[in-house]
Amino acid sequence: MEALPETLQRLKGKIAIITGGSRGIGRSTALALGMEGANVVVNYAKSSDAALEVIAEIVAAGGNGMALQADVSQMEEVDNFVKKVMEKWSRIDILVNNAGITRDKLLLRMKPEDWHSVIDLNLTGVFLCTRAVSKIMLKQKSGRIINVASVAGQTGNPGQANYSAAKAGVIGFTKTVAKELANRGITVNAVAPGFIATDMTKDLKNSEEIMKFIPLGRYGKPEEVAGMIKFLAADDAANYITGQVFNVDGGF
Ligand code: NAP
Repeated sequence: MEALPETLQRLKGKIAIITGGSRGIGRSTALALGMEGANVVVNYAKSSDAALEVIAEIVAAGGNGMALQADVSQMEEVDNFVKKVMEKWSRIDILVNNAGITRDKLLLRMKPEDWHSVIDLNLTGVFLCTRAVSKIMLKQKSGRIINVASVAGQTGNPGQANYSAAKAGVIGFTKTVAKELANRGITVNAVAPGFIATDMTKDLKNSEEIMKFIPLGRYGKPEEVAGMIKFLAADDAANYITGQVFNVDGGF
């Protein structure tokens, strides 16, 4: 991947945090924002090598960034993480709440730990990161927050009561926080991917069945979701967009 020529970079000097930036959609987003000149903070939980590879790719293309470990479902870790970013760069311009997991089971088989682990990361993690970062953006009177939701939060999906509830929660959270932060120049939007080819979906057993519901007839690529996130994070045309949900789902 090559960085854009400096004169075309729209995020030169901006600081962007991507939670779960080591793999999948987060990785593609980190690279896309890095190629636009942003200093990218690649958060990860366990995959330090993968996170460092993302940073190496950004640096090789002439960009800048750092990998930072934190479990974003834990308040103390989030607060420490944000503190470290501030120590290095003293501002945060973009937050992409992307980290997420699945623990799929039909309702009657779903254990409380399956429920809690998904809600804790996919919903509470979004709250914790947004709260910590918005304090800084409020002082700056600017910022862009993009939450990665899912079509599952809009339509429901058998086996994903925990995941669908979390993602529907992210959509309600996005719309509310957008209204709370709008008068300080901060926009808050959500992107709702359909089925995207990442580690999260690689072991799905019913992919032929799923394909019947995707008019474009294929899984999406992580970079296709990253493209929408990049638009919301970097494009002037997104200045007047807040509280919205953008589907990237092949027509699902
Ligand atoms: P993925 O390939 O499984 O990557 C998940 C990322 O989240 C990894 O970088 C992982 O870090 C990170 N992560 C996991 N637990 C974490 C924690 N406790 N704290 C911080 N980071 C953590 O997933 P993906 O498919 O790219 O999904 C990204 C987002 O898109 C998720 O919110 C997901 O729900 C959503 N989404 C995905 C699809 C799809 O079809 N793939 C569809 C709709 C929505 P490590 O590498 O360290 O584990």
